Amino acid sequence: MSANENENDHRRLGRELGLFDTDPLMGAGLPYWLPDGAAVRHALEEYVREAERRAGYRHVYSPVLGKRELYERSGHWAHYSDDMFPAMDLGGEQVVLRPSMCPHHALIYRSRARSYRELPLRMAELGGQFRSELSGVLGGLTRVRAMQLNDAHVFCSPDQVADEARGALELIRRAYAALGIAPARYRLSLPGPDGKYVAAPELWRRSTALLRRVLDEAGLAYEEGEGEAAFYGPKIDVQFADGAGRESTLSTVQVDFHQPERFGLSYIGADGARHRPVMVHRSVVGSVERAVALLVEEHGGAFPPWLAPVQLAVLPVAEAERANAEEFARHCVGLGLRAETAGPERGSLGARVREARLVPYQAVIGPREAADGRVALRLRDGRRFGPLPAAEAADRIAGVVAGHGAELWKP
Ligand SMILES: [Zn+2]
Repeated sequence: MSANENENDHRRLGRELGLFDTDPLMGAGLPYWLPDGAAVRHALEEYVREAERRAGYRHVYSPVLGKRELYERSGHWAHYSDDMFPAMDLGGEQVVLRPSMCPHHALIYRSRARSYRELPLRMAELGGQFRSELSGVLGGLTRVRAMQLNDAHVFCSPDQVADEARGALELIRRAYAALGIAPARYRLSLPGPDGKYVAAPELWRRSTALLRRVLDEAGLAYEEGEGEAAFYGPKIDVQFADGAGRESTLSTVQVDFHQPERFGLSYIGADGARHRPVMVHRSVVGSVERAVALLVEEHGGAFPPWLAPVQLAVLPVAEAERANAEEFARHCVGLGLRAETAGPERGSLGARVREARLVPYQAVIGPREAADGRVALRLRDGRRFGPLPAAEAADRIAGVVAGHGAELWKP
């Protein structure tokens, strides 16, 4: 392992930065989130929800477990049980920690009659799901047994699939710009020779052709990955590489003709007849665990301003400016910013500036600034601004944060 990849290992950084940790008594593969890590996660989740809302998704909640019969119906029990937790006996029936949300969303779709006018029906959930990883491969946030997945299912007619897949790729592209990350490659994931996949050659052919067309029209270079498909259909996977060159999938877009059939989903078309919808499964950032692990390694803890656990450190030069500093920090918190005051009890100004080196903004308040209601701003990248009126500095920072960009400042 090179010094650099060791330096950026998300497990080491996660502990050093106070983001997350694990306890053997809680269990392997079951990390918990500390306040700073929870702040990053919350910001990420809110970003995704808002991006989905603007893209026409409606959010639902569904339970993290379900009856064994549900996963038998979906096909998970037959094709995916190696990755599932064993069923629990509960008063004569068996329930399972869910391996995926699709079956729940299929049931919500069919909870009432649907018309073609409701399609595409975009159903999203940030919810828990589970995977029975062996303890030997667990570590940090990348191989976990309980995860929070950013998931969505678009129920649509066959001729809407390409547009929906394109829309999902666009949502993904915008998220990467906001997160300041770039994928290693796009992969068209196809079935392999083993028996893990549902047998429906014509449906596989149709859905693969659709995804190929979407990738080609988007002008995205991609490679094919045999044996990487979901058991119910092919998918576009967006791959990222870590410092050691290990690849993982962050985002995915999948076309599924199988589950709509298994659950008997239908809608009434313009012709008054019953038709089968297609399910487009898509995830913008995958599990928040894996996404945060990737962000920690990618940025070495220096997150884009909107994601930073602490966005602004307010530094009074001496005790005399503490009241001004605390008032400014309160004003910023009121604007929705995560701001903290670090006073002289935490060391010299130089020491406090160094301590806050990962914080995007530092506001220094000395006697001159305190006297006329100003702050001297320093950015994480070393840029400095002469004393600005405090309210103006706060508004400028809040503006950058609200823009969800990866950059620190707007000229
Ligand atoms: Zn799904």
